[in-house]
Amino acid sequence: MICYKLGGKVINGDEENSLYTYRVASNGVFLEAERPELKVCVQLGTAEIRGLGEPLHEAIDFRLPRVPVEVVKDFLSQAMEFAEISLEVAGWYVYDKYLWNPKGGTRWFLHIPQQVQRRATCQPLPDQPAYDHTMIEIHSHHSMLAQFSGQDDRDETGFRIYAVIGELSHQPKICTRVGIYGYHWEIPSEWIFELPEELQDARN
Ligand SMILES: [Zn+2]
Repeated sequence: MICYKLGGKVINGDEENSLYTYRVASNGVFLEAERPELKVCVQLGTAEIRGLGEPLHEAIDFRLPRVPVEVVKDFLSQAMEFAEISLEVAGWYVYDKYLWNPKGGTRWFLHIPQQVQRRATCQPLPDQPAYDHTMIEIHSHHSMLAQFSGQDDRDETGFRIYAVIGELSHQPKICTRVGIYGYHWEIPSEWIFELPEELQDARN
């Protein structure tokens, strides 16, 4: 995981009240956002700008333990079942710092929301309370590639972690990214998940 090194020039001023901050550094423009569980800085564009000192670098500070392997497998097995009938499925990972899950000894829970499932989409129904506590949204592309689609880009506009799994009919793969209000940065899945042996990072 990359460590944080702040710098650059803040250009949107009112930091306290903004959802995110743009920073202009000697190597380009960056977007920074923070919530209690996560702080992230992504590069939006490169440029050589003089007089701004040290360059900035992309960074993520994920402040929760990784999702344990058993809880990752929970979703994988759900996805496998629906893959048999060629349906996508969405899952929400919630981290509950107050409760202890006796089943897995972890505070990570998989919640399967009420949703409309189709061959090429899965759409959770609106107004489900668990969504507000969701830190990671994951969905399955069943036998199709573990790559975020254009539809995923349009849907995934929050500030949280997003993951997609696919190729379940031969070698299951997972792809993970941080979403910051419509900007996306793909990251190694192992930064967020403990991967079971049968699930490979699609980036490798
Ligand atoms: Zn998708």
